[in-house]
Amino acid sequence: MAKQRVVALEEHFWIPAMRDRFQGYHRGGAHQPSQKLEDLGALRLKDMDAAGIDVQVLSHNQPGAQVFDPETAVTLARAANDRLDEACRAHPTRFAGFAALPTPDPRAAADELERTVTRFGFKGAMVNGLTNGAFLDEKRFWPIFERAEALDVPIYLHPAIPHPAVIDTYFKDYKHGNYPILMGAVWGFTVETATAALRLLLSGVFDAYPRLKIILGHMGETIPFSLWRLEWTVNHLTGRSGFAQCFRDHFWITTSGNFSQPALLCSMMELGAERILFSVDYPFNSNEAGVEFVNRAPISAGDRERIFHVNATSLLKL
Ligand code: ZN
Repeated sequence: MAKQRVVALEEHFWIPAMRDRFQGYHRGGAHQPSQKLEDLGALRLKDMDAAGIDVQVLSHNQPGAQVFDPETAVTLARAANDRLDEACRAHPTRFAGFAALPTPDPRAAADELERTVTRFGFKGAMVNGLTNGAFLDEKRFWPIFERAEALDVPIYLHPAIPHPAVIDTYFKDYKHGNYPILMGAVWGFTVETATAALRLLLSGVFDAYPRLKIILGHMGETIPFSLWRLEWTVNHLTGRSGFAQCFRDHFWITTSGNFSQPALLCSMMELGAERILFSVDYPFNSNEAGVEFVNRAPISAGDRERIFHVNATSLLKL
C-alpha cells in the first residue's frame, strides 16, 4: 500500500520575543518543550519524517498575541508571522502557516490576516482563548470574521489558559506543584474553547457571514458528543431549532491531542468524515501516536484519506 499523504494543522512553534513576554500560568513552566517549539528546521522535519507527516500547518503557541495591549500585540503578531513566512519559504513543500492575529486591536487583526494571506499565502489564522478576558463573539471582533469570509480562509479557535475568575472558582483546588490540574489541557482548555464556539453559534455571526469557517481542535472540544443535547435544550429553551445544523455547516474539527477511537467514531457519526482533519498538537503530543491512531481507526480507506489530507487540501486550498 502506498504511503498516505499526511497533513497536520495544529502544530505549534513560538518566537522568543513573544514567549518571553508571557506572564503567570501562560509561561507554562519547565515542562514546555522549548527547543522543539523554537525549531523550524531540521529537528521538526526529522520528527515529521519519523511519523510520515508531509506537511505541518504551523501556528504560534498559545496564548499568542491575545494577552497583550493592542500595540504590543500588533508588533509581536507581525514578528511571529514574518518568522513563520521565512520558515514556509525555506521549506515550501513541508510547512504552511496560520497567522497569529493581534485581536486586542480587531481592525489591525483583520488587516494582519489579509496581509499574511495575500502576501505570504497563509491558510487562515489561529486565535488562542480569550482576548484580554473577552470572547470573540463580541461585535467589536467581527471585522476579523468579515475579513476571513472575504478571504475565504478559516479561523482556528485554539485554547489558552482560562479566565482568572474561572480558574479561581472552578479549577484552583487540585494542584500538581503550583499548576492547577484541571485548569489547562486536562479540562479548562476544553470547557472554555467549547464555550467560545457555542457563544459564536448564538451570536448571529454565521447569519452575518454565512460562508465563515471555524476549526476546533481536540476532536471538537467535546461538542460532537454533546450535539444532540445542545440542539434539544436550545430548542426547548428558545424555540429555535437548527443549532446543531449551524455547527455542522460552519465548523471543522481536528484530531489534535485526542487520539480516541470512540471519540473519532462519535464525531464521524455527528459531523461526517469530511469535517474531520488530522492534527497532532506538536510538540505536546506525539507525531507517531497521532498517525498510528488514524491508521488503526476502524474506518474506510476513503475516510482515512479524507482525514489525513483530502479535507485539509480542500479547506485550506493547499
Ligand atoms: Zn495546540
